[in-house]
Amino acid sequence: MAGPVGTGAGGDAWLARYSHSLMGVFGTPQRVLVRGNGAVVWDVDGNEYLDLLGGIAVNALGHAHPFVTSVVASQLATLGHVSNFFTSPTQIALAEKLLGICGAPEGSKVFFANSGTEANEAAFKLARAHGKTHSQPGGPARSVIIALEGAFHGRTMGALAMTAKHAYREPFEPMPAGVLHIPFNDIAALRDAVDETVAAVILEPIQGEAGVRPLSAEYLQAARELTRAAGALLILDEVQTGIGRTGEWFAGIPGAAGNDGGPCADAVELPDAVTLAKGLGGGFPIGALITIGTGPSELLSAGQHGTTFGGNPVATAAALATLHVIESRDVLGNVRRVGAALAAGLAAIEGVTEVRAHGLLIGFDLGRPMAAEVVRLALDAGFIINAPRPATIRLAPPLILTDSQARRFLTALPAILAAAARSISSTGISTKGEPS
Ligand code: PLP
Repeated sequence: MAGPVGTGAGGDAWLARYSHSLMGVFGTPQRVLVRGNGAVVWDVDGNEYLDLLGGIAVNALGHAHPFVTSVVASQLATLGHVSNFFTSPTQIALAEKLLGICGAPEGSKVFFANSGTEANEAAFKLARAHGKTHSQPGGPARSVIIALEGAFHGRTMGALAMTAKHAYREPFEPMPAGVLHIPFNDIAALRDAVDETVAAVILEPIQGEAGVRPLSAEYLQAARELTRAAGALLILDEVQTGIGRTGEWFAGIPGAAGNDGGPCADAVELPDAVTLAKGLGGGFPIGALITIGTGPSELLSAGQHGTTFGGNPVATAAALATLHVIESRDVLGNVRRVGAALAAGLAAIEGVTEVRAHGLLIGFDLGRPMAAEVVRLALDAGFIINAPRPATIRLAPPLILTDSQARRFLTALPAILAAAARSISSTGISTKGEPS
């Protein structure tokens, strides 16, 4: 591992060009990265970093995984894109595979998109279609979608309406109407809110952007029972938590092949729909909406929704290759083992006040708002981490992270925290969280 690093001359030149040519929605990128291998990436100046963020929970198998790379290259060299007037074997095989690992009953279906926000847009339309077809004759319209305070579902307008953060929403108001945000993990508030006007409740089993906050098993169970009783859909947004991130295929679906006792594994019977993206393509962009059972699966008919790129042969081949490696290499076992070791190590470090670990989705608190400074100093020390909240660090590394890589971070962290504490007290540096 290289010693202390920063943007060098090469990086600075690229960043100057970046600011001239790219829209400033992401602020200034931290580094200019040129290559990766497993959980390690290198910048344009030759500095090496251990990637403990994995492209925000995307690079499930790390960077440049040889099997995924060869499958993608060979698919692209064979058949790269067809319109959705046609299909391809990889699209069909991936849909079947996803339904299999969900444990979805006969009649369940998949819609492929290109990202998490698009998967959630499809879920939004599914909810509205459900509301239209399941309103009581002469009764109130069933159009309300319930989401939670702290929720992050994406940045396109429907997904943004379900996202809670005021700063993301306010510049673009008016939002699509009919989304209600209720307090996090509060069963009484959910019970009060779910009635015959509600089309759907959408939940992240663990809120990643809010600092890795899990819903309780009781809450997920209550959400299943209340939505079913009221005739509303229960939609799980597993964009960040799905595809092995927590050491289970899904954080909120019991019975999914491989789920054998994760934090939420026994909590909830099957939801009506699940959204996926991030880790699904192992770094290649793909999203999916899975509808469970015939009712939700028949809500959207021909022409009611669509996408040019969704489910294209290369993206679906990448996802099939990713799922194959996760299954055949016991990657879920690695996630549980290395995640547990990381969590135990973090809990023992002075200055870490709380650890919320779910496999390799880990949030840890610092007791005060210094997370942005910790991220900056960690990067200088060769570690990519992230601060979703002012006092919280999030880790979402490749699922193939090794024990020794985890130990390397644990060994370096105390000095990083101490330096950040000194820097905060000497400069009073502001501690704003970073956008995702
Ligand atoms: N849903 C959740 C839970 C997410 O964490 C994210 C992204 O962070 C999204 C949706 C949006 O996904 P994308 O950025 O691919 O649009």
